[in-house]
Amino acid sequence: MYPLLGFVLGSSCLLYIGSPYGFGLGSNWLLYIGVPLIIGIWAQIRVSSVFGRWSKVRANGNITGAECAREILQAAQIRDVDVVETNDFLGDHYDPTKKQLHLSSSVYNTPSVASLGIAAHETGHAIQHAKAYAPLKADAAIHHYRRLVL
Ligand SMILES: [Zn+2]
Repeated sequence: MYPLLGFVLGSSCLLYIGSPYGFGLGSNWLLYIGVPLIIGIWAQIRVSSVFGRWSKVRANGNITGAECAREILQAAQIRDVDVVETNDFLGDHYDPTKKQLHLSSSVYNTPSVASLGIAAHETGHAIQHAKAYAPLKADAAIHHYRRLVL
């Protein structure tokens, strides 16, 4: 559940920073906290269900997420990024500071359509980083914060 917790804490922090009187939100607090919370819960459920469905479908290429990521990195001539396994469920992300591509165990080890989709997506961030694509930072902050959108 911690992606959700992060989302709630994040929205609260933004609110606090944005308001000179702290949490003086009047009766609008429901709008500022409740709506992002509900969208966060909805997105989380949606991601889990889509992942669940496509993780049962084997990809034609019959390669795992890790193999897929390494092949894309090689094709993009990126040789300094490590693909590592993480235990965190749906904790897949690219870490630009360590140049590590973290893939959750189910993505790392499974040759499913869902695994390849996530692995390819995360590898895209490594490519963006290698090419110094500026919106990467915004993406890491917002979109992986965490997994609102696949
Ligand atoms: Zn992403």
